[in-house]
Amino acid sequence: MKTLILILIIFANFHLALFAQMPALEIKGKEVFRNEDVIIHQLDERTWVGSGHLAFFESIYIVEGDDKAVLIDTGMKITNLDSIVASITKKSITLIATHVHPDHVGSIDRFPEIYINQGDTANIAQFMPDYDGKVNYLKDGEIIDLGGRQLEVVFTPSHTPGSTTFIDKTAGYGFSGDSFGSGNLLLFSGTFSELIETCEKMRTIMKEVRIKFLYPGHFNGKNPETQKRISDLITLSKDVLSGKVKGKENKGNRFGLSRVVSDYGVRINYNEKSLK
Ligand SMILES: [Zn+2]
Repeated sequence: MKTLILILIIFANFHLALFAQMPALEIKGKEVFRNEDVIIHQLDERTWVGSGHLAFFESIYIVEGDDKAVLIDTGMKITNLDSIVASITKKSITLIATHVHPDHVGSIDRFPEIYINQGDTANIAQFMPDYDGKVNYLKDGEIIDLGGRQLEVVFTPSHTPGSTTFIDKTAGYGFSGDSFGSGNLLLFSGTFSELIETCEKMRTIMKEVRIKFLYPGHFNGKNPETQKRISDLITLSKDVLSGKVKGKENKGNRFGLSRVVSDYGVRINYNEKSLK
């Protein structure tokens, strides 16, 4: 438990250091809940975002259909999150995660099961060590049917091997966790080639089914992932691989992401092993 707390603190500091320059929380929509752990805003009739304050507004999303609802991610440390969610929606809740990092699965203790991408199984021991619920696996392309509302599961690895985006084609938006960085991508597990592949896959989907934007894992109200940002990530990644752009030393990082590159309004933190 001590180790877990230490990991959480390091993670929080790391994110805060990285995002220190970012703007304040300015989410449009009605505030429907607030306590010391989380502020929840209504995004539209059946969608809410909760913002924690331990890892640059780590986001949780409540997405409701006619029959069921999902909670996407749990934030870092939100006490009694199950009761808080139940005060927002009366539908039965299934917990799904964009990826297994402590600021996204840190408050799972009161949920009997969680759905993740199997690619992040290796992170479970480190980031969900005390979880005794059931871990289920999502499939790429799977449809989560909430009744009158569907989410498509799209695997988008490179931040972690199991990073996943959930697309609501009817609403024209999705939920992408840290897959595209919330403006500051941490390339923990993947290479630049894998990032390009993930971005091209998502750009195609966004074009084909008219997805206007993706709600990111650290949503401050002004940093949705757009097609432009995803295209810019592709361009910057190609520039890095071709040698056109050189990364700088990434001062203050604590996770082995020793290099950083920033251009076209996007930023990627990476290490040497990602240069392929
Ligand atoms: Zn993450």
